[in-house]
Amino acid sequence: MTSALSKGETPVIQLDYKTALVIGSRPSHTHACGCQCNSPYCEEPLNIPCQNHSGPPRIQVGYEPWKGR
Ligand SMILES: [Zn+2]
Ligand SMILES: [Zn+2]
Repeated sequence: MTSALSKGETPVIQLDYKTALVIGSRPSHTHACGCQCNSPYCEEPLNIPCQNHSGPPRIQVGYEPWKGR
């Protein structure tokens, strides 16, 4: 495998609901760390960092952990 990406860079192709913060076309908000995110489940995003900066995990609609499955 070639490694054209510099260290620390995340290949876009690997982004999914676990790391991507803006998914779909929902309105986005800005977290305390400055990242844009559009999870509908974030509470007070201005006071908490996103999941990529030691914040709580972003929960994507359709993947709510409490729904099981
Ligand atoms: Zn962040
Ligand atoms: Zn958020």
